[in-house]
Amino acid sequence: MRKTKIIATLGTATDSPDMIGRLIDAGMNIARLNMSHATHDWVRRVVRDIRAAATARKVPVGIMIDTQGPAIRTGDLPAALDLKPGEKFTLTVRGERSEELHSVDVNYENFVNDISVGDIVLLDNGAIQMKVLAKSGNKVECEVLTPGKLGSRRHINLPGVKVSLPALTAKDLADIAVGLEVSVDYIALSFVREAKDIHQLKAIVEHARPRPLIVAKIEDQQAVKNLHEIIHEADAVMVARGDLGIEIPYEELPIVQRKIVKTCLRVGRPVIVATHMLESMIENPMPTRAEITDVANAVFEQADAIMLSGETTVGKYPLQCVGVFDRIAQRIERSGGANFQERAELTSPRQKLVKSAVVMAEELQADAILVFTIRGNMARHTAWMRPRHSPIYAVCETQAVADSLTINWGVTSIVIPFDHADPEKTISLALETLTAKGLLEKGKTTVVISAIAAGEQMVDAVQMRVVT
Ligand code: PEP
Repeated sequence: MRKTKIIATLGTATDSPDMIGRLIDAGMNIARLNMSHATHDWVRRVVRDIRAAATARKVPVGIMIDTQGPAIRTGDLPAALDLKPGEKFTLTVRGERSEELHSVDVNYENFVNDISVGDIVLLDNGAIQMKVLAKSGNKVECEVLTPGKLGSRRHINLPGVKVSLPALTAKDLADIAVGLEVSVDYIALSFVREAKDIHQLKAIVEHARPRPLIVAKIEDQQAVKNLHEIIHEADAVMVARGDLGIEIPYEELPIVQRKIVKTCLRVGRPVIVATHMLESMIENPMPTRAEITDVANAVFEQADAIMLSGETTVGKYPLQCVGVFDRIAQRIERSGGANFQERAELTSPRQKLVKSAVVMAEELQADAILVFTIRGNMARHTAWMRPRHSPIYAVCETQAVADSLTINWGVTSIVIPFDHADPEKTISLALETLTAKGLLEKGKTTVVISAIAAGEQMVDAVQMRVVT
């Protein structure tokens, strides 16, 4: 059973009920909806299709919306411009279409204030590079360093510039409202710059039931600088390598990825490694050797999840991509993974109980750890320990909790009714359910973390049980 979770972004290549079902069958644990390219009606329809496909298969599938965030873009152009090295080019803030041959408008009011002479401006996901020579009024004069063809509405990155755009734009707020309306499990927040940004989103979603978990996307220098406060505030973290690889020098990217993953393991936050993992498979049925190794490295690092973007939105081989992720992850996990010892500190009495259970399970080489969890926290703590041998089965009372655990390394969830007056009955039902699903067999040893009746009271306990 695979421990590393798979996130697949849905798009034109994959948004039919049939393809969603096949992605789940291939191993997709979470479906991601990128709000930069989604309409609200599409979200409503696709969420219905994902829930229906998951219900039909009786497997939890998480749903994540990913906000566009404070995206800076060029405006419209009458025709694509061929930018040559050394050429002078003007970026303006006029709110209108540029008709000149050497100019384009930018959708960011404070652009001229926030930028400085000598700064680098990257257009079209880093393909075109310019250097700021001068600024005045509503104009920024640049010199083209790396040439390219510039079309309309291209993405702009400003590495190292403190951008004064709000963390949540009007579009983000409207998209989040739809996410809450359809009860998504995760909201990924783009271009998080400080813990305050997550705090702001938490205030918006705090009364939602179930409350979606907030995934902080680390994608610029400011986020890297404020990494610790962001990781502590977020429910989960994404190494958003698409923008991050543009915003920081690319040779820094593997170092920053490793630092984010290790810090998340130490703090106890699920972490996703995202973007360009199987980029060549947008066109080709086989991954490159470098891609295989990149995916394997994320699994070695013990990331909770690995993510597909263009590969499954517009690629020719979306199902094969999920299959490749599944195959590489399973093989690397079977090899024993890497010897990373980063573990979150388990400090509260309940966390220490979980730690003892995992130590016991590993000592016994138990066939499973069963964790009965009301809100999912005990299961999350079990995953923090990254047990090498025993699979983790989270026994949940609601589908929403099971879906909220789809991001966590090594956790497989089942949903059963809990008998709160008689925990023994609940444990028996869980063992029967896991046996019926073929996940456990008679005679297997399990370690059970659950409530037990102690006289009039219920107390948390760890027990060893043999499946009968
Ligand atoms: C990224 O930049 O890697 C990312 C996941 O964000 P987006 O797809 O929204 O650009």
